[in-house]
Amino acid sequence: MTTHAPLTLPALGDLPGLTVLEHEPLAPRTTWKIGGPARWLVEVGAHDALVPLLGRLRTAGLRWAVLGNGSNVLVADRGYSGVVITLTGELARITLSRGPDRHRVVAGGGASLTRLLRLAKDEALAGLWVLGGVPGTVGGAVKMNAGTRWGEVKDTLYEVELASADGLTLVPAARLDLGYRHAQIPAQAIVARATFLVGDADPAMRDRLDEVLGYRKASQPLQLPSCGSVFANPPGDSAGRLIEAVGLKGHRVGELEVSTQHANWIVNRGHGSARDALALIALVQARVKERFGVELRPEVQRFGDFSEEVVP
Ligand SMILES: Cc1cc2nc3c(=O)[nH]c(=O)nc-3n(C[C@H](O)[C@H](O)[C@H](O)COP(=O)(O)OP(=O)(O)OC[C@H]3O[C@@H](n4cnc5c(N)ncnc54)[C@H](O)[C@@H]3O)c2cc1C
Repeated sequence: MTTHAPLTLPALGDLPGLTVLEHEPLAPRTTWKIGGPARWLVEVGAHDALVPLLGRLRTAGLRWAVLGNGSNVLVADRGYSGVVITLTGELARITLSRGPDRHRVVAGGGASLTRLLRLAKDEALAGLWVLGGVPGTVGGAVKMNAGTRWGEVKDTLYEVELASADGLTLVPAARLDLGYRHAQIPAQAIVARATFLVGDADPAMRDRLDEVLGYRKASQPLQLPSCGSVFANPPGDSAGRLIEAVGLKGHRVGELEVSTQHANWIVNRGHGSARDALALIALVQARVKERFGVELRPEVQRFGDFSEEVVP
């Protein structure tokens, strides 16, 4: 039998702005309220600490993953045996520099889209309203190229600053291969900052933002824990329509339920598990494939130690 030495976190006390938590529950840090704890969770509040932190984790051979607002992740029931990194403080700041006709909005990867949208509303900045009601952080929104029927991150993103164990790199948005709910961000890189280039909004922008939020309230089951849309829409179709057509609205596995209001949402009616979520996802995929020949691709990202989860 092979025995492994227990993993230990390298000394980090000299790095500014870090808070280290052990065995930190992740479910409350996600909107789906599912999953186990992180062995370590490191909140990074100082920009200067990010690269050295990643360097030390690499040297120590520790795995890490970055978590934003947890609004598009399915955390494993066993949680994550590595280091979960979250961005706060300086790395959640938003600044606006006005130009003659285009303005730069620089947002830390940990900044919430809600705050970004509030700034856009208060300062009458164009383009960002299309993300109204998306409950993520800027880093998560870039990684997912978050969007709605009105537009997506790609429309206004100018460049990102990526942090890795090797340093900081500025990458123009055009080099991120931004597509439908996809951005080419290397697995071992963190979006430390994102710069958006926006113009002045016309006065109707505020009404459009209110309309987007009203539309969401009317059509989405916002009162129950979820990850929003579970599946990406297949080209030219809607995942919700296909799932509804195979009669799965309201279908439950354990405490997870295909929403009766919006079939592409799976809501957590209590203490749903990742195991149940995976089983329901697999069932939906199988039924849709059988009836329509369409492979539904999960939009939600698996997060943590899934290798031993069994999908019935
Ligand atoms: C009620 C509800 C409504 C939603 N509506 C929409 C919608 O209309 N449109 C839409 O596109 N999405 C929607 N979503 C999904 C989700 O809000 C978006 O995908 C959002 O952009 C995810 O951001 P996050 O910060 O929560 O990322 P997380 O869920 O925390 O992480 C998602 C992925 O991004 C990675 N990540 C997070 N931060 C960083 C970073 N700084 N650097 C690199 N990688 C990072 C994570 O490792 C993970 O792989 C909805 C979700 C909910 C719960």
